[in-house]
Amino acid sequence: MLAVAVAGLVVNLVSMKLLSAGSSESLNVKGAYFEVLSDMLGSLGVIIAAAVVMLTGWTLADPIIGAAIGLFIVPRTWILLRQAIHILMEGTPPEVDITLLERKLLDIPGVVAVHDLHVWTITSGIDAMSCHLVVADMGQARATLVGANEAMKSGFGLTHTTMQIEDQSLREAEGELKL
Ligand SMILES: [Zn+2]
Repeated sequence: MLAVAVAGLVVNLVSMKLLSAGSSESLNVKGAYFEVLSDMLGSLGVIIAAAVVMLTGWTLADPIIGAAIGLFIVPRTWILLRQAIHILMEGTPPEVDITLLERKLLDIPGVVAVHDLHVWTITSGIDAMSCHLVVADMGQARATLVGANEAMKSGFGLTHTTMQIEDQSLREAEGELKL
């Protein structure tokens, strides 16, 4: 049993090293990392418990160490679950300041209003943005779109954008449709 635990520990340590690099960006890799981490702690727990039981005969060491590992892993899993739910609920990514983002759009020459603005995460590491830009002159639509895409990329790293350009009359027609 002890030999199996030692072999498991070595394999898990190698896997953890491989996964730790990507675990800050991808939720999937982070999930895999926690899986291996809990396995590693399990192996370590078996080794320590075996040593304690062999040296002292205190058999309670085994369940106590097992419970301690569980208590260590549960809060980390909870954080992972919260991040996954945030993505599923299409919440605004925490690193994106939506107020600042709206101000940057309003700063673009010709833009008079912004509405239906949403930023959400498609999958961890890939954010998407959509909005309507009301412009003073539809003749400037192309320049506005180019400026908006540049502002989203340089200011917020957002490259998956969908923007609807409208003038005041289109905005009003849209408002009537929504009534
Ligand atoms: Zn609109």
